[in-house]
Amino acid sequence: MEVIKTTSEMLEYTVSQRRSVGLVPTMGALHEGHLSLIRQSKSENVLSVCSIFVNPIQFNNPNDFAKYPNTLDNDMAMLENTGCDLVFAPSAKEMYQSLPLLKFDFGHLETVMEGAFRPGHFNGVAIVVSKLFHLTRPTVAYFGQKDLQQTLVVKRLVEDLGFPISLKICPTMREKDGLAMSSRNVRLTPALRSIAPILYQQLTLIRDGIQNRFAILDLKNKAMEVIEQLPTVKLEYLEIADAASLLPINDSYTGDVAICIAAYFDDVRLIDNIVFYKP
Ligand code: AMP
Repeated sequence: MEVIKTTSEMLEYTVSQRRSVGLVPTMGALHEGHLSLIRQSKSENVLSVCSIFVNPIQFNNPNDFAKYPNTLDNDMAMLENTGCDLVFAPSAKEMYQSLPLLKFDFGHLETVMEGAFRPGHFNGVAIVVSKLFHLTRPTVAYFGQKDLQQTLVVKRLVEDLGFPISLKICPTMREKDGLAMSSRNVRLTPALRSIAPILYQQLTLIRDGIQNRFAILDLKNKAMEVIEQLPTVKLEYLEIADAASLLPINDSYTGDVAICIAAYFDDVRLIDNIVFYKP
């Protein structure tokens, strides 16, 4: 009989008893960003599962939910071509026989940025991710850095509830002009699409400025000014924070920095971020 006394060994043991299953949770309208996660899963697991579910309980804005693109046939073809083994595409009724009562509280992680502007969002995310974990039983789950705050919330979820799953965070795939790939990009008019790369441009400008020891607040204000000049763009937030805790940083900070941004391009909400080390 074996005896295990540490949680890390217990997790390792549990995972080693199962065949490796990779899960890539998505809301569909797939693009190369999603496929990069599937490819990563395929290279590391016996079985790769992609879930496609536009989770109603993580949307605080009914218009955003109603207009979320649905391209299921195309998604299936893309997944088939990428060699995905299994697609889990449940209906909302299937996932929620009744509205969940459970409430998560992720503390500071859900009171800033996405959490501040999308009340209830991370509670909905945590519930759906937990359900997907229980239903598909992955050994590894793949998430994109594109949704940085989501990765931090899911990390805490896995840690706090002891899910026997390792998380892999994959880099953000971008269009040639720097725009982060997103399912919502298809909703941009040509005029909005042409200005959308401003988000990434400003993120990289701030990063370069910080690396060159310019004052963080000045860099932030300058970027906000540039974006707010655009009449069709409404900046929601631009935050420069510790990449793990999302707490604000000052000029003498050393460590991983996250610069996170969210803005509406007319009624299309886009987010982006970059993470880098500040010596
Ligand atoms: P979504 O369908 O937008 O909920 O995204 C499903 C997963 O794909 C999430 O883990 C996202 O972070 C990830 N993802 C979305 N866009 C990108 C991208 N441009 N590059 C890499 N991963 C992404």
